[in-house]
Amino acid sequence: MRARLLALCALLPAAEAPAAAEGPAPAGVAPQVGPPYVALGFENASPVWADSREDGVTRIHLLYDHERGSANRAAGHLHFRLEAAPGSRHTLEFVNLDNVWNGRPGSVAREFRTLVVSQDGREWSPVRPELLSTNRVRLTVQMPGPQLYVARVEPYRLSDLDRLLARLRASPLAAVETIGRTVEGRELELVRIGSERAPFRVFLRARAHPWETGGNWVLEGLFDRLLAGDDTARRLLSRYCVYALPLANKDGVARGLTRFNLRGKDLNRNWDRPADPELAPENAALEAWLAAQLQAGRRPHLAIDFHNDGGGQLHLSRPEVAERDGYLARMERLEALLRARTWFTEGSTKAAFRNPGSFGDGWLERFGVDAVVHELNVNWIAGLDEPPSARRWREYGAALAEVLDAFFGPVPAP
Ligand SMILES: [Zn+2]
Repeated sequence: MRARLLALCALLPAAEAPAAAEGPAPAGVAPQVGPPYVALGFENASPVWADSREDGVTRIHLLYDHERGSANRAAGHLHFRLEAAPGSRHTLEFVNLDNVWNGRPGSVAREFRTLVVSQDGREWSPVRPELLSTNRVRLTVQMPGPQLYVARVEPYRLSDLDRLLARLRASPLAAVETIGRTVEGRELELVRIGSERAPFRVFLRARAHPWETGGNWVLEGLFDRLLAGDDTARRLLSRYCVYALPLANKDGVARGLTRFNLRGKDLNRNWDRPADPELAPENAALEAWLAAQLQAGRRPHLAIDFHNDGGGQLHLSRPEVAERDGYLARMERLEALLRARTWFTEGSTKAAFRNPGSFGDGWLERFGVDAVVHELNVNWIAGLDEPPSARRWREYGAALAEVLDAFFGPVPAP
């Protein structure tokens, strides 16, 4: 019973846990026995280091990724394992949250409203850290056993992708193609679900920014729905074909990085010009694939690039193109369908928004593809009034299967 109580205790939001400095520990609760060891020797661990302050707080120092030739920098991926005496309590403070984004300084602390913890690195529970000031975030945990994983969001690792690809390769309805290699030579796999002869096509990308795993869970939910083998799945696959690049920044995922590729390029920028095959081979490979699709008469009818942030909106950028009004009308319809058929409530960026070179902007401007960046809210799912989780993002992906069907509408007459 005691072990069970301790396990539950570790999962309490920090604000609801008993205060740390209130005299001797109550009977039956082990006292704190020095700072925890912060272990990083496992897949997708984030590059952090730790020290302990005199007041017993363990500071977790994140390390920034830097953009090549720019002031932009980002830290925000968290994935480490605490090792300490079962029952001991530890207060962690995260340091180096002063990111620079699009040339503007801004702390990422407000996007740390929910973190996740796990005893085994597989089953995760949400915890609510405390925002101490604009760039200080604190989390108190009680060790349910000798180790406790802490992460920003539920991790999705290269090994998770490998499991997915093995499943897809075994399915007659799916195909996996290597379209190029990352800076470090990792294969970039492009997945197809359904027939190339289907009347509609959608392209989906996840993990341009390596910490943002939400899109992977959405893709898994969508793929599972389409491969369920029931009448609905057969109907959906007669209507559209899904193409997806599930781990766009594979090197960053392997190394537990936050935003840029290994040559300091942001894979959600510079789509307003041809990708540099030396500096951004990941985008150059995707661009070559897209060019071949266009050449073959297979222009995607929709392209969605999944991300995570604290806002969770559809980012509708507005390049100066002739078909802009039609694009915006179709994106308005997409938003309405998401609101009607999923828990999405966050809405879209408003009329003045433009983010040149981002995925949605560049694909519309250069390739005439209806493309959009879809942020997934990492703080809270307002439509469900609960913290985000892999389970909820999978459900979102499953519901997206029907949203896409409705979005494409009737097959045009030949
Ligand atoms: Zn992102």
